[in-house]
Amino acid sequence: MHWKPPVGSAREERVAKKLRPSSKFYRFLWEVRRELFEGGLEEKLIAAYEPRGQKPCPPAMLAMATLLQRYEGISDADTVDAAENDRRWQLVLGVLGAEESPFGQGSLVRFRQRMIEKDLDRALLDRTVDLAKSTGKFGWKTLRVALDSSPLEGSGRVEDTWNLVGRAMGRVVAVVAAALDIDESVIIAEARLRVLTADSIKAAIDIDWDDEGAKFEALRELLAQVERLEAWGSKRLGKLSDESVRRALTTLRRVVSQDIEPDPGGGGGPRIKTGVAEDRLISLSDPEMRHGRKSKTKRFNGYKRHIAVANGIIVAAAVLPANAREHEATGPLLDDAQAHGEVAALDIDRGYLASPRLAELHGRGVVINSRPWVVANDGLYTKNAFRIDLRRRLITCPSGATARIVPNGKTSFSEHDCSACERRASCTTSRRRSLSVHPNEGLLIKLRRRKQTHAGRANLRKRVVVEHRLAHVGAIQGRRSKYRGARKNLLDLRRSAALANLHEIARLRLAA
Ligand code: SF4
Repeated sequence: MHWKPPVGSAREERVAKKLRPSSKFYRFLWEVRRELFEGGLEEKLIAAYEPRGQKPCPPAMLAMATLLQRYEGISDADTVDAAENDRRWQLVLGVLGAEESPFGQGSLVRFRQRMIEKDLDRALLDRTVDLAKSTGKFGWKTLRVALDSSPLEGSGRVEDTWNLVGRAMGRVVAVVAAALDIDESVIIAEARLRVLTADSIKAAIDIDWDDEGAKFEALRELLAQVERLEAWGSKRLGKLSDESVRRALTTLRRVVSQDIEPDPGGGGGPRIKTGVAEDRLISLSDPEMRHGRKSKTKRFNGYKRHIAVANGIIVAAAVLPANAREHEATGPLLDDAQAHGEVAALDIDRGYLASPRLAELHGRGVVINSRPWVVANDGLYTKNAFRIDLRRRLITCPSGATARIVPNGKTSFSEHDCSACERRASCTTSRRRSLSVHPNEGLLIKLRRRKQTHAGRANLRKRVVVEHRLAHVGAIQGRRSKYRGARKNLLDLRRSAALANLHEIARLRLAA
């Protein structure tokens, strides 16, 4: 079903003319609405989404409504309301004067689901890149691509160990009750799950939380209840295999094992682990959320959004759990960016440096611009003080001694050289100095050298464009995620990036 907004409508022209300056982006979307879905995008949307119900709506119109929804940052219900009552929305959607919204909430939800299943959010973002190309402002044969990321707070409720375990038990009870077609209260009573007998987990436990002894006993009792629940389930379920029961039990086991360990001083009793497990599940309502760090001291919970920018346009986006290393996004971002031109240069933060893709790019002659890793080495000589000759496989130290590079290991200078060395106090506290040579040391050497030069530092400052685009995307998408799960939030990021690109295209066209 093709979208056929009016062409040359005098009424639309009148409404568009009257729009206030603050609504000029609506006017731009109105002007560009046909062009946006050309280039095969509308056909892809039609192939993926079958309109149904009493109000069949063309998928291209739903895609435009999806963009407008993110532009305003509103719910599905308010999106339907805006399509019915806001003249700016009606202008863009081509339904001026309509008494009813051309779509319902269900259509929006189904359409987003289809976009995710068929990766159409990527196609929408790609189409905005095509529009940017058509402005003819930049060359797209070879690209200078910049990557950057920012925190995206998750919308799931973050819970402590007590609540996580209690709520995971509640889930098991719910799915087991459904599988056996019995009331949850039967399981709670028979397995003596006192933790599930009050309005909240903490109310059911009801201890003085400052009393360590009481906490120890409460934890022991909580684990006993977990075991009774598992035993009750396996006895009653027998051979019944139910996927939702299996998943709920796995989650329960996971939250117990990630947060609780035997207390070495507790006579075999349990204690809550100190510190945070590497991949700790922090929310049952959004199990993909993780703890992440904004800096050494500031933590956040949720995801990280990553973008790739070329010619001031966002060409790729990725969303990863907050604990994922920066470099895990490098591959997906570069794969998407390369669809728009050959990557000739890459501007990155050091976090992306660890990606194995960088060695391959560097080997192909792609220029990598990044600050090198800093190794402080407690005031002793850093790698910078040594001359590393990869061709001859030799390292020369500040005193002129040499050592042969050990592949994939530590290269050590001889004890003979170091023991007689006048600079030893500035070099090492051991009997001899050792250095590790990174598999991608050739690139790291270049980065360290470039940072020493005025031109090299000036080049690094060019990353500022991606920082501005990331700030713009953050202003559109917001600080907190709208959805649960990385993939849904990726859709939200991609439509935010598409909007940021459309803003930039509007600016470029105005300047033409
Ligand atoms: S301590 Fe060893 S490696 Fe360091 S400068 Fe002296 S000789 Fe060279």
